[in-house]
Amino acid sequence: MEADLKLNELGNILRGKTIEDFIETLVSLWPGEIVFTTSFGFEDQVLTHKVFKNNIPVEVVTLDTGRLFPETYKVFSETIKRYNKKINMFFPDHDDVEKMVSDKGPFSFYDSKENRLECCRIRKVIPLDRVLKGKKCWISGIRAEQSENRGKMAELEYDEDRKLFKYYPLFLWSFEEVEKFIRENNVPYNKLHDKGYVSIGCEPCTRAIIKGQDFRAGRWWWENDGPKECGCHLKSKVES
Ligand code: SF4
Repeated sequence: MEADLKLNELGNILRGKTIEDFIETLVSLWPGEIVFTTSFGFEDQVLTHKVFKNNIPVEVVTLDTGRLFPETYKVFSETIKRYNKKINMFFPDHDDVEKMVSDKGPFSFYDSKENRLECCRIRKVIPLDRVLKGKKCWISGIRAEQSENRGKMAELEYDEDRKLFKYYPLFLWSFEEVEKFIRENNVPYNKLHDKGYVSIGCEPCTRAIIKGQDFRAGRWWWENDGPKECGCHLKSKVES
């Protein structure tokens, strides 16, 4: 399959390269068609630092679900000021949000998994699809140790649904390595990390974890079945 061949080729290019060099290579292969999405967590801030510090011409994008923590907007603001760079913000379709909230109320996601996935689809997955449309490679801060589901992924993948490559530069990094990089490089970070929040998403669906818990245990903590994902990173975009 063509995608497999290209995946192999890209894998060979990746071997031995620094993260910065590999992203530069992607940009030279597909100028203007590489996007990095950030939600301003520790991992994303490491990648943002690498991209902005080295002036790598990658589009940096964030999704505003409308339900983010104030601390997340704060680190967004600190980041664009620190690096003097632009981060493009994408919003959900207002008709979809208005209908969902009018029909089901502002906390429908607590009522059922179906409602939760509907909200994630409207506020995250559909806007993300808009971001990724026509792109050749999507870079994100996923790490293998974040969850069992993510541990089954690979540093470089091909998304058949979206017809693009996915590159997770920090896939094999430990949490300690990420934290060390942030401290040593004085990278702006979400202060919720100091309060036990590890993976930070929307305010009503995220809480702090206790030591030893799965990194994503604080996301949708009331659900006990299936991966702790919004649907953006599932192999198939089927919300299951
Ligand atoms: S994380 Fe919660 S509030 Fe955010 S999009 Fe998903 S269900 Fe909605």
